[in-house]
Amino acid sequence: KFDRKPLIAGNWKMNMDHVQGITLLQKLAWTLSDARHDYSRVETAVFPPFTDLRGVQTLVQGDKLKLVYGGQDLSPEDEGAYTGDISGAFLAKLGCAYVLVGHSERRSIHGETDELLNRKVKAAYRNNLTPVLCAGEGLEIRQAGTHVDHTLNQVRAGTVGLTSEQVCELVVAYEPVWAIGTGEVAGPQDAQEMCAAIRAELGELFDADSAAKVRLLYGGSVKAANVAAILRERDVDGVLVGGASLDAAEFANIVRFEK
Ligand code: PEP
Repeated sequence: KFDRKPLIAGNWKMNMDHVQGITLLQKLAWTLSDARHDYSRVETAVFPPFTDLRGVQTLVQGDKLKLVYGGQDLSPEDEGAYTGDISGAFLAKLGCAYVLVGHSERRSIHGETDELLNRKVKAAYRNNLTPVLCAGEGLEIRQAGTHVDHTLNQVRAGTVGLTSEQVCELVVAYEPVWAIGTGEVAGPQDAQEMCAAIRAELGELFDADSAAKVRLLYGGSVKAANVAAILRERDVDGVLVGGASLDAAEFANIVRFEK
């Protein structure tokens, strides 16, 4: 666990226009500039809307802010006649390190299939972006007790055809849909159970050494008050934060979680 640096990621979703985004980041930078804290112990990432990325790049470059950022989605293609899409090549050119793939809102609102998401994961690697593959079950599946199978199927389908080297770099975010934006948090043991199952599955599909390097995040109503308990779990290597990442003070407190 201690070789895997915790990743604290804020998904802004379709919030914060490019002016609001800069204000939020400046507040975050100001809050995190407290020299008493060692920010190198975690990696902090934000996922703003596409239209904010150029501004974020400018601010991050010119500032001491040790922050990385990524897109919330990418096209499976690199360029061409794909109106409205944004390619991994464009994100890389804007300095993105990461890209979210298959967030539950993309799966449900845009009908993104596992097959499409696998192509997006490959497009991310092709462009030197680290994919954050999101997976997780809805409430009905949780109640039926098939949540582990369901989530592992998504992980399996999303990683088809990857090499072990690519898997070492992979980030998987377990996000039970019933806990997203609802205030319902899966218990730390639920997060651990699923993350351990995902790691074991990746070990079977690829190899145990590579699986041990994968960072596994939990997402779903994470806030400063519950982050430490979640991150104490053995196989949970970070969090993907939605709502609470829109408040600079709250997100800074998540980044500064006390072990
Ligand atoms: C998310 O959508 O990635 C998420 C975890 O949202 P929230 O923190 O608001 O539940």
